Amino acid sequence: MNTFEVNKLVRQNIQKMKSYSSARDEFKDFNTEMIFLDANENPFENGVNRYPDPQQNSVKLALSELKNVNANQILLGNGSDEVLDLLFRAFCEPNIDNVITLPPTYGMYGVLADLNAIENREIVLNSDFQPNINAIFESVDANTKIIFLCSPNNPTGNSFSDTAISELLDNFNGIIVLDEAYIDFSERESWLTKIEKYPNLVITQTLSKAYGMAGIRVGILYASASIIAIIKKIKLPYNINVLSQNKALKRIMDSDKNSSEIELILDNKRKLVEQLYQIDFIEKIFPSDANFVLIKVDDASKRYNQLIDFGIVIRNRTNQLLCENCLRITIGTNLENEKLINVLQTL
Ligand SMILES: *Cc1c(COP(=O)(O)O)cnc(C)c1O
Repeated sequence: MNTFEVNKLVRQNIQKMKSYSSARDEFKDFNTEMIFLDANENPFENGVNRYPDPQQNSVKLALSELKNVNANQILLGNGSDEVLDLLFRAFCEPNIDNVITLPPTYGMYGVLADLNAIENREIVLNSDFQPNINAIFESVDANTKIIFLCSPNNPTGNSFSDTAISELLDNFNGIIVLDEAYIDFSERESWLTKIEKYPNLVITQTLSKAYGMAGIRVGILYASASIIAIIKKIKLPYNINVLSQNKALKRIMDSDKNSSEIELILDNKRKLVEQLYQIDFIEKIFPSDANFVLIKVDDASKRYNQLIDFGIVIRNRTNQLLCENCLRITIGTNLENEKLINVLQTL
């Protein structure tokens, strides 16, 4: 039975602290005729002479309309990496608490656990790359604060089953982080519609993949308003700069561009996968709900280095659990994919 109470999970020091109140927090409305002499800025306009909106209200409003969630259920970070780090800092007491991750998966969860002096309990996925529910629950104890799920998962490319995800949400009294960095490439529905139903569900998404904006560093966290309020308290005030906020806003409003690029990438993936099946040293192509495919080859390190010699860089994942001799290939443009196939055919 789930008796989730977010205020019991928060670290004491964070519970007690007061957050920094910036000039822009106290008076935010730039669209007035006010004279701003409050933040020691240089008064001469150049587009970036003012501090950015610390609450990123216009970006959140656009996202809120696009994703159909309330603006108070959204928090933005300097990439997903920042919002993931903020979750550790809000909920995990160094040297006491632990988190659970499910390798093979995104490496950043483990790095952030180390950085924050939090034990990372790794429960390897089963042979279908699905969460091993029983083993996860066996390793949960009173200090387990967060379970990280990545679906579609990086580097395997598959999505976790809905029953696995809901079983974890229903029976874990800590926070479930569902990393949906690749959700826009998937035919499956996002779990965003469920944040009202599950008070322990935190969803992360990003502008770095489907939205084509890895360079501006904008990650998004969706959760209940009470979880957002806690994390908002500890985030640095000006974590998204003016240039990134402007770019993000434009791109979020341009949903036609997003969907047409996603369609192209998915089309290119279908073509690429068909051609990969013709290469005889490729032993397996794993199904992918993302903009990359994981393949198993005869000798991953050898093939990886051969491609480098031809000027093509892919990701060698052979050292990850369950990924022996596996390579991860991002879907490029048509031309890039053709070059890749041509080189693979000559090897
Ligand atoms: C690429 C990726 C991200 C994105 O991270 P950003 O910091 O937002 O660029 C997040 N999670 C996973 C699993 C990823 O593969």
